[in-house]
Amino acid sequence: MSPAQQAAVKTEATSYIACRSCGVSKPHTDQFFGYTPAGNLRLRCKQCASLRGAARYAANPEPAKRRAKAWRENNRERECELKAAWRRNNPEKARASLRRRRARYMAKPGMVERARISAADYQRKHPEVKRASEARRRAQKAGAGGTYSLADMERMWRQQEGRCWWRVTPKCQERNGIMDRTRIHVDHRIPISRGGGNGPDNIVLSCAQCNMAKSAKYPEEFAARLL
Ligand SMILES: [Zn+2]
Ligand SMILES: [Zn+2]
Repeated sequence: MSPAQQAAVKTEATSYIACRSCGVSKPHTDQFFGYTPAGNLRLRCKQCASLRGAARYAANPEPAKRRAKAWRENNRERECELKAAWRRNNPEKARASLRRRRARYMAKPGMVERARISAADYQRKHPEVKRASEARRRAQKAGAGGTYSLADMERMWRQQEGRCWWRVTPKCQERNGIMDRTRIHVDHRIPISRGGGNGPDNIVLSCAQCNMAKSAKYPEEFAARLL
């Protein structure tokens, strides 16, 4: 069905029909009724159609799973985009799902031990990898535009009125972000590892909890992760 035809259906169809499943009378428009593959409005309302689909799936999920699998194989990029969009729109659920997946994986017999051994083993076999990443970080830090001074820290302390820049962890929020002056963390707004500088324009003062929670995340991601 062409977009023009669809628009025509949308605007001209104002008649009511009784859904052939639930019998409720609804406007016969695509707000309430879906389209058949041939492009005609169905006679069963969207609600009933989706219930029927769910029941059919519960009784015999295989055909639907096969169709979904075939679609995914033919639309890999689209699938990635959709998944990424879903993760953006549902950060909580995405994190929960990742946690579940990890937990399932690590629950397999011997998995914890295996992960530990393989990580240790890898480091033993490739000491250069670890050394290189340490060296890279040092180099980045040294070469990352500018350095901040004690005076910068003092200025920031005044600007932030002694409060944590992030204020996103529960502990920090409990004390209204107020920091202990003797335990200030200097935090890079954009992490060095992501190209942020070491100069005063990229540093903020943060409490220990927020600093550690932040790790190497961008501020937006950080907020999304903790709010
Ligand atoms: Zn119905
Ligand atoms: Zn904090």
